[in-house]
Amino acid sequence: MARDKLLLIPGPSPVLPRILDRLAAPTVSHVSPVMAADLKEALANLKRIVFCEHGEAFVVAGAGTLSMEMALVNAAAPGDRVLVLSQGYFGDRMAAVGRAFGLNVELIQSPWGKVVPPSDVAAALGKADYKIVAATHVDTATGSCAPIEAYAAVARRAGALTIVDGVCATGGVAERMDAWGIDVILTAAQKCFGAPPGLAILVLSERAMDKRKGLPSVPAYYADVLRWLPVMNDPAKYFSTPCVNEIRAFAEATRIILEEGVEARFRRHALFARAVRAGLSALGFSFLTDPSCLADTLSVVIYPAGVEDGAFRARLSEKGVIVAGGLAQTAGRVFRMGHMGNLTREQLEFALGALEETLADLGARPASGAAVAAARTVLEV
Ligand code: PMP
Repeated sequence: MARDKLLLIPGPSPVLPRILDRLAAPTVSHVSPVMAADLKEALANLKRIVFCEHGEAFVVAGAGTLSMEMALVNAAAPGDRVLVLSQGYFGDRMAAVGRAFGLNVELIQSPWGKVVPPSDVAAALGKADYKIVAATHVDTATGSCAPIEAYAAVARRAGALTIVDGVCATGGVAERMDAWGIDVILTAAQKCFGAPPGLAILVLSERAMDKRKGLPSVPAYYADVLRWLPVMNDPAKYFSTPCVNEIRAFAEATRIILEEGVEARFRRHALFARAVRAGLSALGFSFLTDPSCLADTLSVVIYPAGVEDGAFRARLSEKGVIVAGGLAQTAGRVFRMGHMGNLTREQLEFALGALEETLADLGARPASGAAVAAARTVLEV
């Protein structure tokens, strides 16, 4: 059998055998004690990972886009003014989702590779009565990481709820829900959690839950958190059949995070990001993202002159490493490399070696071990 390739796209990230084993376990009843125990534990662990003491956690079959819908549908009343902060591709999606549900969406878009300054958010909130501020934490197209703590503080002062898209951040970059005053974190399983895709994951603050409870209805059925709340509180109850195996796999992924330690995991993501960038810089690559807002979970890497995207990624894949191409206006100019989830140092060094060999194969520079050597100067301090 061919050796598995190392999947370093910005999600899905590689899934550890321990987590895959839960997928392969015999499917149990969705209302059985074993499933109830796993779901309860997954929800409790999730709240620890986002530092939410009160509030409610939800895990349902779907993906990040469903969690975006669930966040907006439950935290916003029809016609509410919603300020969406976009530093790339997925903020635009948040705006589109809001508009699809009849919300009054205003978008502030930063240049790609930068983030919206909190002062711009404060200025916008001073001009109109926004009920919601929605921001992408890490934009997966641009590799920029937004100042969520500052956004939430500004929103709180203006009396707006803060929704954070943590799909490319939660579990890899700090999101301190209670301390920062975040009202909704929406996320998915396939990136920093290192679990397989297939889940919409949300945590709502008490304020966000109160907002939903104050709405007579929402323009959704499956995505209505009040239909799911009884199941999340008591998984022996039924609303819609949960994806038993994916949820049990996710429970295992959250255990692995807590075994590593949440803060240690954030530190590892930060360290690996610096090591990857040191290695890539040593090879002559540069980065799309402004140095002031580089994300710890992925890098958006600009090719040196003369290196062609398709040929590069195809050759790299032959060497056992998969990275992603650029999205929208960056297509062909960059590749995107995820470094999130349960990656090991050995995997990173293997990838950097393969990247260097690929450049050498394409005649761009001789291989000399420079990438791994540069990464080690970061990893070994
Ligand atoms: N938000 C962000 C920041 C993402 O990176 C993605 C997926 N790449 C999404 C939302 C949408 O998630 P999904 O593809 O799981 O629907």
